[in-house]
Amino acid sequence: MSALLTVRGISRSYGGVAAVQSVDLEVDEGTIRAVIGPNGAGKTTLLDLVTGFTRPDEGSVEFCGHQLTGMSPRELPSLGLMRTFQSARLVPTLTVRQNVMLGAYRFTRARFFSDALRLPRTRREECELVVRADELVDFLDLRHFADTPAQDLPAGAQRLVEVARGLAAAPKLLLLDEPAAGLDDSETRELADVLDAVRAGGVSLVLIEHNMSLVLAISDRITVMDAGRVIAEGLPNEVREDAAVRKAYLGVA
Ligand code: ATP
Repeated sequence: MSALLTVRGISRSYGGVAAVQSVDLEVDEGTIRAVIGPNGAGKTTLLDLVTGFTRPDEGSVEFCGHQLTGMSPRELPSLGLMRTFQSARLVPTLTVRQNVMLGAYRFTRARFFSDALRLPRTRREECELVVRADELVDFLDLRHFADTPAQDLPAGAQRLVEVARGLAAAPKLLLLDEPAAGLDDSETRELADVLDAVRAGGVSLVLIEHNMSLVLAISDRITVMDAGRVIAEGLPNEVREDAAVRKAYLGVA
């Protein structure tokens, strides 16, 4: 199996703090890779380094044969790489459908996101956007919120809209930063089913998550970070039994 994403020796420090130190990560096609670790472990910084929001001090990122190091985040959707953020970054006054349409917009030939809502190039393109957005809104069970402005949604639903928007661009790899934060147990189970179905559809996922039952239920492999470094990597069962992980992350020896 070939790696879709290969991160090699990536590092980033802020002042004296080594946020990410010599981290390697490989994500295979059609798999879910969880990245877990205590607060401040460097998980979000790692995502920021992969997606060009932060420049590495050293190291490289390769995705589908492209060197991402030095690329701007806005170049990544067209390569098939999408991400979500720890706190949902929706356009608050746009409806759920419109927010998802923004993600689907790379399907059309038009160049700028804002055109999608103000000036669709053709009625056919507009129609494609709406159909695709509605499919995803249904897929994430958000139909009853389709016409609701994002700002009026509960926090949990906003995270699901972010996932839908990420999927709307038909990525090869979707990076999710704590998608279960703010979800209740039944919403989290629903999210697990959605992510399983996404993987079954051939999309790979990197999942940063604190919810261990979600991580253990759906991940193919787990990377554990602590203080900027990878302290363990392996199958869910291996990681769960790892003494260093139990000490650093679960607080038990
Ligand atoms: P959490 O689970 O709380 O989101 P995390 O594992 O995602 O934590 P990061 O947010 O990546 O951790 O932070 C790793 C370390 O880098 C922390 O010590 C953090 O304070 C530091 N850090 C991250 N970004 C910056 C920044 N822009 N400026 C200064 N320090 C930063």
